[in-house]
Amino acid sequence: MTRHRPKAGEPSPQTAQDHAPGSTAPGEFDLIRRYFDRPVRRAALGVGDDCALLGVAPGMQLAVSTDMLVEGRHFLSTVEPRRLGHKALAVNLSDLAACGARPLAFTLALSLPRADEAFVAGLAEGLFALAQAHDIELAGGDTTAGPLNLCITVLGEVPAGQALLRSGACPGDELWVSGTLGDARLALEVFRGRVALDGAEFEQVRAAMELPQPRVGLGLALRGVATAAIDLSDGLVGDLGHILQRSGVGAEVELHRLPHSEVLAGQPPALRQECLLAGGDDYELLFCAPPARRAAVLQAAAGAQVPVQCIGRITAEPGLRVLDEAGRPLDLGRLQAFDHFKS
Ligand code: ADP
Ligand code: MG
Repeated sequence: MTRHRPKAGEPSPQTAQDHAPGSTAPGEFDLIRRYFDRPVRRAALGVGDDCALLGVAPGMQLAVSTDMLVEGRHFLSTVEPRRLGHKALAVNLSDLAACGARPLAFTLALSLPRADEAFVAGLAEGLFALAQAHDIELAGGDTTAGPLNLCITVLGEVPAGQALLRSGACPGDELWVSGTLGDARLALEVFRGRVALDGAEFEQVRAAMELPQPRVGLGLALRGVATAAIDLSDGLVGDLGHILQRSGVGAEVELHRLPHSEVLAGQPPALRQECLLAGGDDYELLFCAPPARRAAVLQAAAGAQVPVQCIGRITAEPGLRVLDEAGRPLDLGRLQAFDHFKS
């Protein structure tokens, strides 16, 4: 199907067959051809056939992850399409980052209420800008009419046996987190009308919510250094809980060590704690490493140009304890992780 393939970054030229007779709205295949059919280099075959084809290098494992974004659940209808495209791919790349996998390609399943070209064009722009930044390509997908919903599957590669998993944490390991936590949740509270921020502060936390930066370089650099890792999508307490459960260990976290922005520092303590511990949508990496590898952790972070902070340690005693400044454990009962069927 190379005949219909546009040059990189360009939508296909309109042809006589672009619209069904008597209709002015583009059809399913018009949208695919104009906005999603781009040349591929890494995949042997991309958009246009029944399957995409990808080779897997010898000695590598394919890392596969899927994340769905549903309007009203994962994003607000007010979000700019470009930012939505960015975020849909970013949250998926964040999963590859957590596994220490190198991204290769992705697929997009898109459900749209209408064939709104301005919306799809913006979405594609955000999506391909991030794809280009990570040198990955869209290899296929599905397009249907329905409630607004984006489902991306990312494919990555990792040397066999070297993926970072949730299950490797050991007592004595130090617990680390990248970037800062809580701003995305703070932005959500502004949208909910619970918090008021000035314009510049709001734009800052809104960018954290709408334009998360997947920590792919850090994840790659942590292979062979971290014993366990996870990306923070549902809040620190809940996501750390997954590491603890899968590793059969406990942890102690010091609240005052949790990295946060100046904007979050200016909020009342209860709100600050909630955003830091149960925020969600952070897309930072949480990982464990023995103290002997502290220099290697810092080197990995410097190489990836991402700040990291040690926030506590893994313990043999099960359960999670979060300690306040005075070393007293906080009551975590009210800080449950986000759960789609309970929240
Ligand atoms: P099939 O009928 O075999 O399911 P479709 O008609 O759904 O195939 O899709 C036609 C081609 O367009 C396929 O190669 C599919 O991977 C691709 N495609 C469909 N929707 C998208 C999309 N949103 N993004 C990328 N590729 C897509
Ligand atoms: Mg189909």
